Amino acid sequence: MFSGKTSRLIELLERERFAGRKVILFKPEIDTRSVESKVKTHKGAELDATVVRTGKAGVKAIFDVSSDYNVIGIDEAQFWDDDSGLEDTLNKLASMKKIVYVSTLNKDYRGIPFNISEKLLAYADYIYSLTAVCTKCGEEAVFSQRMIDGTSKSGPRIVIGGKEAYQPRCRNCFVTR
Ligand SMILES: [Zn+2]
Repeated sequence: MFSGKTSRLIELLERERFAGRKVILFKPEIDTRSVESKVKTHKGAELDATVVRTGKAGVKAIFDVSSDYNVIGIDEAQFWDDDSGLEDTLNKLASMKKIVYVSTLNKDYRGIPFNISEKLLAYADYIYSLTAVCTKCGEEAVFSQRMIDGTSKSGPRIVIGGKEAYQPRCRNCFVTR
């Protein structure tokens, strides 16, 4: 969280668009923080996006719609279902000479990798690892501390939220129990 991954994704997609390629950006239906059909960053950058569901049907829609585009962007990929087949479909699109950019969070609020992210990272040709700044000590933050239900491990894995719900933390300041 707060590593600038969506900003980086938007930058990369805009570069591709300047280069004359047809670009499409998909966002998960579950992420309701920003106005529908736009992806917005915490800093205010935005790009039109197509909202799709996070299961198998949504992934099929991504594949079908992508046939008309050269470049495919996926924002917040960690929200896709484990069995959605997103990683296979994106791999297939890459094999069809499409350029695929994915922004994803690697670990959940417990510090446990998202299954879908593990698979996407394994398939990726290039990985850009971004960090945030720890809100406690200012070091590199690689964990997301959930604030609304403390450090409970029994809560739902996905809770949508911004600063009120999560804080970036370094390994030393990240608390679990
Ligand atoms: Zn820290």
